[in-house]
Amino acid sequence: MRIVLLGAPGSGKGTQAQRLMAEYGIPQISTGDLLRQAVASGSELGLKAKAAMDKGELVADSVVIGMIRARITEQDAQAGFIFDGFPRNLAQASALDDLLDDIGKPLASAVLMDVDHGVLLKRLSGRRTCKACDKVANVHQPDFDARELCEVTGQPHDYFQRTDDNEETIAKRLEVYAAQTEPLVEYYHRQGKLVSVDADGGIDEVYGRLVSAIETLERDGIATAMTVEIDAPDP
Ligand SMILES: [Zn+2]
Repeated sequence: MRIVLLGAPGSGKGTQAQRLMAEYGIPQISTGDLLRQAVASGSELGLKAKAAMDKGELVADSVVIGMIRARITEQDAQAGFIFDGFPRNLAQASALDDLLDDIGKPLASAVLMDVDHGVLLKRLSGRRTCKACDKVANVHQPDFDARELCEVTGQPHDYFQRTDDNEETIAKRLEVYAAQTEPLVEYYHRQGKLVSVDADGGIDEVYGRLVSAIETLERDGIATAMTVEIDAPDP
């Protein structure tokens, strides 16, 4: 399984990636982790990355791609890998394709975790944080319990909504996501590698759809890929 996972904030992408990793025994490749490890290791790429970050600059795609090349040739990535949060733009997508072609392991598919804009807005705006213990909960989750006791105060959690979680901020994040992701969706769609999974529903339900889509694809090939549209956030 060699896939890129695409999905908006609130789509449950991170949770599903964790589960795929655990059940298929393949690593999730996160460029943030790779950068931190490379900087800590003091490798040549790490030093280049650190120099850029110290100057407040973005790390060059060539440096990131070099780290990815090193990572996916490691033993635990031989059965596959999941990219989450990368690529972020067309240049990176194209560089990733070149790299994977070069090592003879092209991407099987890009899986889009598709959730309606309104659903995302509701999910994300339901997040509350406890002032005392920092526990994060979601008032829209069926198992949300407003009476649950806080281990710090012994009283029910004192939930508030962080400014990052207000509707205006969330709408902006979703807008940034859509602007960034739409070109990637088109890119993978043109290659016939895009698979869309309905990510509205419970974690188990969505995971079932995800696995079924991926396994159908691995069995029958790219011809089963479905066409999708991304809902643009309301202005
Ligand atoms: Zn608390």
